[in-house]
Amino acid sequence: MSKQVSLVAKGDNFKAVDVGPWAELGGYAAGEFKGKVFLKDVLGATGFELSFGLLPPDTQLPFFHAHKQNEELYVVLRGKGQMQIDGEVFDLQEGSVVRVSPKGARSLKSAKDSEMAFMVVQTKAGSLEQWTGEDGLPAQAQAKWTK
Ligand code: ZN
Repeated sequence: MSKQVSLVAKGDNFKAVDVGPWAELGGYAAGEFKGKVFLKDVLGATGFELSFGLLPPDTQLPFFHAHKQNEELYVVLRGKGQMQIDGEVFDLQEGSVVRVSPKGARSLKSAKDSEMAFMVVQTKAGSLEQWTGEDGLPAQAQAKWTK
């Protein structure tokens, strides 16, 4: 059975979960994709999909894929490997960040001597109409930190 995401806290305006250490992502499974966990539904997200994946050494994603309308952001959390987009191959390592437009034909592969843990954010291309400067506003709250 697949590992389960644990609920940390929730309220009317938030939900917090813990997926555990990146090195233990291999305990998750999404369909045939071992080491993959999707969080949109668990988090109740309405504007993005977030997933984490772990590829064992010398393993590629089982397919190349593109999207109809969503762009993706890949962030490598640990390990190293390569990405191929539209026929171009480049190296990835911890800290690599890659944005891919919907039509890009993409796949990932871990290096022969390294696993690779990564995060993927998926959101509708062109949907961001305002951000930090325009969208942020002060909120009334009193600090209650316990640590
Ligand atoms: Zn995708």
